[in-house]
Amino acid sequence: MQQPLQPPQPSLVPTHYFPPAPRKPPLNLAEWPIPSFRLRCEELEHPGAKLFFEHVNPVELLREAVLAVFTWLYTEETVPRQVETVVLVLRAFDGAAHATGADVYKEIHFNLDHIANSASRVKDEVFGVLVHEMTHCYQYNGLGTCPGGLVEGVADWVRLHAGYRPPHWREGGGDKWDAGYADTAFFLVWVEARYGYGIVRNLNLAMRGRRYDDVMFKEQTGRKVASLWKEYRAYVESQGQGQKEAKS
Ligand SMILES: [Zn+2]
Repeated sequence: MQQPLQPPQPSLVPTHYFPPAPRKPPLNLAEWPIPSFRLRCEELEHPGAKLFFEHVNPVELLREAVLAVFTWLYTEETVPRQVETVVLVLRAFDGAAHATGADVYKEIHFNLDHIANSASRVKDEVFGVLVHEMTHCYQYNGLGTCPGGLVEGVADWVRLHAGYRPPHWREGGGDKWDAGYADTAFFLVWVEARYGYGIVRNLNLAMRGRRYDDVMFKEQTGRKVASLWKEYRAYVESQGQGQKEAKS
């Protein structure tokens, strides 16, 4: 069996941040609530389907995505145990992918056109998108009150830590802390490097059964999220300056 629970490869961690703290893989997989997996491909003749089955082992894919979420957001004590089934649906639609479902049953819809358009790096893109969507299947969202940008940022933060950073992601982007996706993910990486590893995990757990409030950042870091963002922007600016100076 493949061992997916390694810390991210150094080359995939943003180089000018501190690398995330390495986490030990859970040794006893029997302790972790791996759901059962199903696959539904609605267009077997689609070029994306052909690429998918050429490059990806679906069980390995789904298992690795679940274990990435468990590794980076939970411990054996805190991991949600209610999800029984995750169904991966391959079909063509607008957008890359999305996750739906209730507590026990989840579906991840993956656009076959997106897979076909990622032909040069099918496996990395499919695993990366799946880790992001699987995070949505398991993350807490403050009873639906978490800012969408933070929901998406945490999903990309897990993707980043799992080692599936796509080539187009750039550190230091975004005009607000909850701009979402990679912009918020890199902000969260910086917050942990500056104020302590485990903050993202704790933020996620804080939103279990409790409405989202900016004060959650203060509880974890001692600083308001607006102050954190200001400090991050100053850091990014200083790095940009440093890079320019290094080149000239
Ligand atoms: Zn998402």
